[in-house]
Amino acid sequence: MQHEALRLAMIATCNFMIDRGINQGTAGNISVRVDNGFLITPSGVAYDEMVPEDIVLMQLDASHDGVRKPSTEWRFHRDIMAKKPEVGAVIHLHSRFCTSLSMLRKEIPAVHYMIAAAGGPTIPCVPYVTWGTQELADYILGALSNRLACLLANHGMVCIGPDLKKAAWLAVEVEALAAQYWQALQIGEPHVLPDDEIARVIAKFKDYGQGGDTRKMPSCC
Ligand code: 13P
Ligand code: ZN
Repeated sequence: MQHEALRLAMIATCNFMIDRGINQGTAGNISVRVDNGFLITPSGVAYDEMVPEDIVLMQLDASHDGVRKPSTEWRFHRDIMAKKPEVGAVIHLHSRFCTSLSMLRKEIPAVHYMIAAAGGPTIPCVPYVTWGTQELADYILGALSNRLACLLANHGMVCIGPDLKKAAWLAVEVEALAAQYWQALQIGEPHVLPDDEIARVIAKFKDYGQGGDTRKMPSCC
């Protein structure tokens, strides 16, 4: 079997999201770029029962091998991998707070400077369309043209990163931001930071930390 270590890391990341309380059931899906296409989680398989052979190897023309059907959301994973060569991993979740805000069809504004980690002063919310469709893939690709995360109306969230570890890190941060925004909305109207401040934070992030990759994620990814 090709890419066994990556397949194990994908399963570990799915289970990390469940343990962390930011995904559940068979919701969501993950893909990771490999030389000849990308690996994607199978459709409708419980994460705690998933084994490496269940992960599907898919080419950019959507042909695929393996015993399982790929995620029903393969279209947006494929389109992101095809159109955004800098992306190494895509994560889709039905996380509680991102999904709650998506039900209001509300973008997340710059209510905390950490929004800069998602690439700009907002996390947009794409219109509702049926899951698994090309229309949904088109909306997501549009929203991610200048962002690393977006909400999907009445559905969930998608985020991207150069590799699985960074995409998983961002998924945790975006869900935390959604939770903080939701909580602030309970007691008032949160202040929104100006665009030029978010541009400053994006610049500051470039040399944040110790020079290496110190983002805290499980050893699995
Ligand atoms: P899959 O199990 O087919 O990946 O679907 C889950 C999902 O979140 C659809 O949007
Ligand atoms: Zn979904």
